[in-house]
Amino acid sequence: MNFLTRNLQRFAINKLRRNNFEAISLRRTFVASAIDSGSNQDKFKMDEFNKEKLKERLTPLQYHVTQEAGTERPFTGKYNKFYEKGTYVCVVCHQELFSSDTKYDSGCGWPAFNDVLEQGKVTLHNDPSLGLVRTEVRCSKCQAHLGHVFGDGPLPTKKRYCINSASIEFMEPGTEKK
Ligand SMILES: [Zn+2]
Repeated sequence: MNFLTRNLQRFAINKLRRNNFEAISLRRTFVASAIDSGSNQDKFKMDEFNKEKLKERLTPLQYHVTQEAGTERPFTGKYNKFYEKGTYVCVVCHQELFSSDTKYDSGCGWPAFNDVLEQGKVTLHNDPSLGLVRTEVRCSKCQAHLGHVFGDGPLPTKKRYCINSASIEFMEPGTEKK
């Protein structure tokens, strides 16, 4: 094999690798967007999601948790030991998310729910931050960060939706709809 042939071969192999890499990246992007797309997020008015407006409307902690995937300090949230009967809505877009019927005291320091109000109210995302593999929970309508879900909850679902108080707002029965 002469020098020119070798170079041509190397060029061809590199191009093949590059194409393959691009195909994999493209597939990853597609899968990620498929996971990320909430069922009714299109209906959400993007204007209300304007970061500056949100900063005015939310407290710094509410903004940090919902928009920057922050976490309130354990045992400090207003709904940690709160057990009134009603519904919890997203603090950003007011979509109904959880019912007090599934709220329980997990002892973890954050509000814990055994289930979501209805399927499709939240979306789940892999969260590899902090060197752990956790499942992040977001509002399906506005993509606000809510918390994480773990598999160590009580029956019937065995799920523990560990949710920041700063991401949700309690509504008494009959006042949920806004
Ligand atoms: Zn929301």
